[in-house]
Amino acid sequence: MANKFGIPTEVEKSIRARDRVCVYCRKKMKEYLHTIGSPKDKATIEHLNFDGPFYWKKGLKESDIVICCQSCNSSRGEKKLVGWFKTQYCIDGKINKKMVAMPVKNYIQKNPRK
Ligand SMILES: [Zn+2]
Repeated sequence: MANKFGIPTEVEKSIRARDRVCVYCRKKMKEYLHTIGSPKDKATIEHLNFDGPFYWKKGLKESDIVICCQSCNSSRGEKKLVGWFKTQYCIDGKINKKMVAMPVKNYIQKNPRK
């Protein structure tokens, strides 16, 4: 079954297997299948592209998606990665382009302005 962004199950599985800790803050995350609300360490699907496409059918690619914790996901919101890295949240958490996980580094290299 596909998730809300239409990402095929196999793709989501491989991303979740790769990103076992938050790609930004490296925190361990949980699945929380039946929890109400959004715990800060919940493993969420994160779009690296701040301006889309957000849906698989609209052209979303595997290299555009990572798994990050709910804290980072909501802190970043709809900011560009480079802009978000300058916020207090990232400064406090030592989140920057040198510290993030490889899929994010690869993305920044290919899309320096996003
Ligand atoms: Zn995080």
